Amino acid sequence: MSRGQWKRRLEIDDSQRWRRLAQTVFLVLNLWIGIQFLFFVWHHEGRWAPWIATRPPGVEGWLPIAGLMNTRYLVETGTIPLIHPAAMVLIVTFLILSFLFRKSFCGWLCPVGTVSEWLWKLGRDTFRRNFAAPKWLDIPLRGLKYLLLAAFLYAVLSMSVRDLAGFLESPYGLIADVKMLNFFRYLTPGAAIFLGVLVIASIFVPNAWCRYLCPYGALMGLAALLSPAKIRREKTACIDCAKCARVCPSHLPVDKLVQIRSAECIGCMECVAVCPAEGALALTFAGPRRVLTGRRVAVGVAVIFLAAYAGARLSGHWDSPIPGDVYRTLIPAASGLDHPR
Ligand code: SF4
Ligand code: SF4
Repeated sequence: MSRGQWKRRLEIDDSQRWRRLAQTVFLVLNLWIGIQFLFFVWHHEGRWAPWIATRPPGVEGWLPIAGLMNTRYLVETGTIPLIHPAAMVLIVTFLILSFLFRKSFCGWLCPVGTVSEWLWKLGRDTFRRNFAAPKWLDIPLRGLKYLLLAAFLYAVLSMSVRDLAGFLESPYGLIADVKMLNFFRYLTPGAAIFLGVLVIASIFVPNAWCRYLCPYGALMGLAALLSPAKIRREKTACIDCAKCARVCPSHLPVDKLVQIRSAECIGCMECVAVCPAEGALALTFAGPRRVLTGRRVAVGVAVIFLAAYAGARLSGHWDSPIPGDVYRTLIPAASGLDHPR
C-alpha cells in the first residue's frame, strides 16, 4: 500500500492504531509486573535481586481461578475476600469490558492474545497465508475451551463458601501466584513440549490457543454473547468484496451476515479497518446509529480499567494483607506445597 493510500486508510479508520497502542501498553504493564514479582520472589528465596521489589498485586490477573473463587465468595457472603482481591477485581473488570466492547479483553488487552497475533501475522507474512482447521475438526476443537471452563466452574461452584475461604487462606492459596510463576520457571518436559507445539501451531493457525484452549477467553466470549456491541454490515453500502471475511482472525463470515453475534468475535475491528466501502461495516453499540470507533473503544477500555484499579486501591481491596514473614517462610518451601484436597 502506498503512503498516500495508507494515509487515506488511517483517515477512514484508525482502530488498529488504537488497538495496537492498548495491546502494547498492557503487554509492557504485564512485563513490568512480571519483573517486579520475579525480583520479589528471588529476594524471598535468598537470591540476589537488582532491587528489593514489593509484590505487585496486578500479578493476580494471572490467577483466574482465585478470581472466580473470590467472585463467588462476594456474591454469597456480601464480603470482599482478603486474599487475592485483585484477582476478583480484574476478572470482573475484564468481564465488563468484554460485555461492553465484544470480548475486547482478548482483542485489545490480553498479552497472550497479543503474542499470538504477532505469531500468526509472522506466519501470514512469511508463508503468504494462514491456515484454518476443516470445519469437522474446528468445531469440536473450539469446544475444548468450554470444556475446560466448565471443569473450572464446576470446581469453584462445587466447593462450599467455607472451603473456598479455607483454600485461599491455605499455604498453597496464599502463594498461588508464586506457584504459577514457578510453573513457567521450572517447566516440566511435557509442559515445554506443549508450549513449543502451541507456538508453532500459532504461526500457522490464527490465535490457536485463544480459539481452542483458553478457558479465560471462553468466559469472556460468554459475556460477549450478551453484548450490545456488534459488528454490523450495511447491505446497501457493501460491495461484496469479502475483504472483511478474509482478514477476520476468527474466520467469521463477516461478508455474509448483517450482524456478528458470535462468541468468537474478539472485537479487533480488523474487518472494519480493511473495508473499502464507506458506511458498509462498523462496530455499533445498541443499534445501528451508535458507532464505536477505535478511539472510543480505547478510551472506554482505559477509563473502566483505571476506574476499577483506583476504586479497588482506594477502598483497600487491591493488596492481599499477607505479612512479609509468611512470604519468607512459604516462598522457599513453594515446591513442596501441594494443592489442598
Ligand atoms: S468479526 Fe471483525 S471484529 Fe470480530 S473478530 Fe472478526 S475481524 Fe475482529
Ligand atoms: S469488506 Fe466491506 S464492502 Fe467488502 S464484503 Fe466486507 S462489508 Fe462488504
